[in-house]
Amino acid sequence: MGLEFVYAQPVKIYFGAGRLEALGLILEELGLRRCVAVCDPFLRPRLEALRHRLPAICELYSHIQPNPQLSGAAAVAALIREREADGVVAVGGGSTLDTAKFAAAIAYDGGEALDYFRGQRVFPTAHIPVVTVPSTAGTGSEVTQVSVMSYGSEKKTINHPAFMPKAALVDPSLTLSVPPRVTMNTGLDALAHALEGFWSRNHQPISDQMARQAIRLVLDNLEAAWRDGSDLEARSNMSLAALFGGLAFALPKTAGCHACSYPLSEDYGLPHGEACAFTLDSFVRLNADARLEALCRELGLSGAEELASRIAALKQLGGLRTRLSELGDVDLDKLARDCAAHPLMKNNPVVPDEAALRRMFEALA
Ligand code: NAD
Repeated sequence: MGLEFVYAQPVKIYFGAGRLEALGLILEELGLRRCVAVCDPFLRPRLEALRHRLPAICELYSHIQPNPQLSGAAAVAALIREREADGVVAVGGGSTLDTAKFAAAIAYDGGEALDYFRGQRVFPTAHIPVVTVPSTAGTGSEVTQVSVMSYGSEKKTINHPAFMPKAALVDPSLTLSVPPRVTMNTGLDALAHALEGFWSRNHQPISDQMARQAIRLVLDNLEAAWRDGSDLEARSNMSLAALFGGLAFALPKTAGCHACSYPLSEDYGLPHGEACAFTLDSFVRLNADARLEALCRELGLSGAEELASRIAALKQLGGLRTRLSELGDVDLDKLARDCAAHPLMKNNPVVPDEAALRRMFEALA
């Protein structure tokens, strides 16, 4: 059978340093008059300062924590109802964007957040629009129909059309203040999205092109953005990498490395990007087929082994944890079992069983 694929990308994207100033015009274009703004605590002063020029924003919510809890999304949904809001603006990292997306989806549907989280209530097809404004360069959440929420220590990725943003405003200047460690974690998250979108069993030609571009941008710019956070060109290229990374995995979905990131975050507290980076070079080696080798050569690398070494070097540079011994008391059997059981593992081109994953982690002891 010949090539067949379906590609759709419904989010209108505005990109450019300083474009946050155009937020009012974007809300006007969308006909939004009463929006709840959900923002990272770090960015609250910036939003407060903008607010007098943004009459469409009626409320500001900024109680966002990394690995966001479902209770935050429930609180935002309540605020949306209370203020009779007609839209949501989300300004922050993936934690902020995902909270806003979940809240907007359920706000006017009448159910409890936990029932949707547990799959006991279906997300509504209609919801108020969300405008995403990422302040980190990593998750790609600005263009995906994914929301990652935690209930206690249970962290779940929910992929549903109800979470699709209406528009994304990507202003790389917002990332200038991101500290080096978060820069490295989020940059490697973008690389993981691109690689996993590329080698996912559901990859397809348009997503592949996004992946190629994102991988090249990360390899060429992440170290510079990490070394000098004020380098706007490197920051801008990393914001673009994160955006392309989001588009690269949005349809194909991620695979083995993301499957392993969930137990690593839930049981050992690794931030999302660091958790993905933990096994990314191992999965590059595991998935090194002719297609990945050809991509590496296209990118000017000698092959997948050099790509794996480049990833390991970036982790070293950023001071990320790379060994199980740095994670405390690790239950290797449970870790291998949980990684093998994660649904995303089936998306990996080579599906490692529990024993193979145990060996992979033993090599990272
Ligand atoms: P984050 O949103 O958790 O933020 C990390 C830290 O950076 C926080 O302390 C935050 O206050 C700070 N920060 C954010 N922007 C800043 C700025 N401009 N200046 C200074 N500090 C800033 O981190 P993240 O990596 O962007 O998001 C991670 C979350 O996103 C995880 O829950 C992850 O599972 C999820 N995620 C979602 C998707 C998706 O498609 N929806 C994809 C990947 C990851």
